Amino acid sequence: MTSPLPAFAAIVVAAGSGSRAGGAKQWRELGGQPVVRWSVQALLDAGAEDVVVVVPTGAEAEANDALFELTGWRLALGGAARAQSVQNGLTALGGPAKRPVLIHDAARPLLDRGVIERVLAALDEVDGALPALPVADSLRRGSEDLVTGEVERGDLWRAQTPQAFRYDTITSAYAAWPADQPATDEATVVQRAGGRVRIVPGDARLMKLTYPEDFAMAEAYIPRQIRVGQGFDAHRWGPGDAVWLCGVEIPHDQTLIGHSDADAGLHALTDAILGAMGDGDIGDHFPPTDPQWKGASSDLFLIHAVERLTARGGRLVNVDVTLICERPKVKPHRQTMRERLSELLALPLDAVSVKATTTEAMGFTGRGEGLAAQALATIELPVRDQAAGDGAGR
Ligand code: MG
Repeated sequence: MTSPLPAFAAIVVAAGSGSRAGGAKQWRELGGQPVVRWSVQALLDAGAEDVVVVVPTGAEAEANDALFELTGWRLALGGAARAQSVQNGLTALGGPAKRPVLIHDAARPLLDRGVIERVLAALDEVDGALPALPVADSLRRGSEDLVTGEVERGDLWRAQTPQAFRYDTITSAYAAWPADQPATDEATVVQRAGGRVRIVPGDARLMKLTYPEDFAMAEAYIPRQIRVGQGFDAHRWGPGDAVWLCGVEIPHDQTLIGHSDADAGLHALTDAILGAMGDGDIGDHFPPTDPQWKGASSDLFLIHAVERLTARGGRLVNVDVTLICERPKVKPHRQTMRERLSELLALPLDAVSVKATTTEAMGFTGRGEGLAAQALATIELPVRDQAAGDGAGR
């Protein structure tokens, strides 16, 4: 059980053009959701009473889309420089004068509640709080490719956000700040105005997304869980001359009867992936009563399930399908089926298994009334506390 935090508000600065990261990085996807959504959600989850998100003029639609279905935030428009954007956010936010305000860069998406707790706690004793990390690498001065000196790193820190101040402290410090001078961050502005700003422990995961390669590193920091889902399907044999199994058409003296192409292997696999996500079953997504799926290729169903997984920032780890029938012989087609699934799922071949068994002439498969299929799918899904919901959203 986490302890309640004091009442606070927040400003998330998402007004940059992000040229070094190759475009406006605050709208780019990280772990299946826009960068800006991560920290806005973290602040709301921690109990922020009011969150003002400062965006560039013209980016309102992108922001609304990125923050879809979250409540407790509103937009303000940014200025020419970061300091102006923050001040616009403060004006939009308003008092109370003594309410703590966290000022955070959207480019640091992986905001943890622990950092929020630490900066808020520091405000009981000082005028401001700055999360920071010690500098671990030794520092050198250099010119061209030659070392020209060294830098003592004992009192150097890598500053992060969110930085915390009471509303009146930060607004009056900005009022005293010379308008023509760029301000790196709010800690500098408050400190120059005579305030005491405390350094509290930051978090390596709060890294700033600056260069394109930073996204891959941030992805690796997102906590993920392994999930397993299973699926089962059966179809009845009827007159025909070929059968679809695991995305491959096999000549046979019968076919499987169904609303779609009756590929029981793909149906079981689709259900396994949906099952791992807690996202219903194939019938919810493709009702058999809907005429548009009559005769449909079951590739569509499988691809749809994978797209829903990708949209949640998830990925497949491996799949394992078992076909249960006396005939046709599956073994000669197994490799083709694996290759087809590997292609459809963008998985390496050794992460795709297709197996077959008979039931030794017992039961409906043994009597040749129908074919059954079972499937397992293992997935990785980002852990987002309340963000994932029941899978009905984005
Ligand atoms: Mg089916």
